[in-house]
Amino acid sequence: MIVGIIGGGQLAQMLALAGQPLGIRCLFLDPSADACARSAGELLCGDYADERLLDRLAECAHVVTYEFENVPEASLRYLASRVAVHPGPGALAVARDRWHEKRLFADLSIPTPPFVAVDSRADLDRALGVVGWPAVLKTRTMGYDGKGQRVLRQAADADAAFSALSGTPLILEGFVAFDREVSIIAVRAASGEMRFYPLTENVHRNGVLAQSLARPGDPMTARAEAYARRLLEHLGYVGVLAVEFFQKGDDLLANEMAPRVHNSGHWTIEGAETSQFENHLRAVLGLPLGATHAVAAAGMVNFVGCLPESPAVLAVPGAHLHVYGKEPRPGRKLGHATARAPREAEVLAALSRLRALCDFADGR
Ligand code: AMP
Repeated sequence: MIVGIIGGGQLAQMLALAGQPLGIRCLFLDPSADACARSAGELLCGDYADERLLDRLAECAHVVTYEFENVPEASLRYLASRVAVHPGPGALAVARDRWHEKRLFADLSIPTPPFVAVDSRADLDRALGVVGWPAVLKTRTMGYDGKGQRVLRQAADADAAFSALSGTPLILEGFVAFDREVSIIAVRAASGEMRFYPLTENVHRNGVLAQSLARPGDPMTARAEAYARRLLEHLGYVGVLAVEFFQKGDDLLANEMAPRVHNSGHWTIEGAETSQFENHLRAVLGLPLGATHAVAAAGMVNFVGCLPESPAVLAVPGAHLHVYGKEPRPGRKLGHATARAPREAEVLAALSRLRALCDFADGR
């Protein structure tokens, strides 16, 4: 079986690695000749809109999936007319635009921070009147890892934020002084069967995920699952879906969804019965889904902008190292380590040792 993947980054690489024992091969489309996934499968190198390459992908693959939200919509629709594409183009169209995404959350009665679309400087003033202070101005599309967003704390911030981000449609959101951030990773098969991984508690630094901790039995689990279930059913979704939330008191406010495998689910590689990567492949290929329970206490630390020496990582009890093979650059995710242990306290100790090895040494 061959799975076509749009994008050749680490998520594509980890999908391909998960597929290998199952006899699944992956074929990637990426404009970069040194896309890191090439170590784990065949790379078609070229533009995402190149019809010749899209035809190759459609001819060779049994199903096509993607590892990022900013796939050109026309390319996905072109592919979808020739081969099965999961998750479907409808899910991607919603997830690639923060305004459409939040509209869908609201339509499905999934709480969100207050939000207003902003297309002009005058719109921004009106939006601030609705949303209040502080607020976050974000680009509606192409933003990830905290890029394309500015926090507005005082009137003087509005001009600077607008001139930095304008030129593309924007959204203003209320700034949430959250207690913690959590995400739910869900998987749905074409049959409608749904499974959920334990709720994950996440810590971000400068908008980039730094650490995740699996929280089996977390009291917010049922609510997060119910919200994810609404999205999966509404979208007729096939594959893995991640939904990120802010928790404030007893409220969960949806921040965004990712129609793909997600960084906050990397702990599942060693920490769950079936990893998010394997379950995504199973779902899109119509194979039976695997169990999603945690096999131990588990968590993950991202290596961003620097990669510690492997002996130092491997010396941490319960740690498993994943190196993506990317050129080091400030702010770039170069690898991660998962930690698994019988008790959560041991995992937390391992995560803090792992974080100390690469504590955002690039100064971000
Ligand atoms: P995002 O790209 O929307 O996932 O934002 C990246 C990170 O920035 C989030 O995980 C939060 O830590 C922070 N952030 C984004 N939006 C808000 C908000 N409305 N209120 C508070 N923090 C936010």
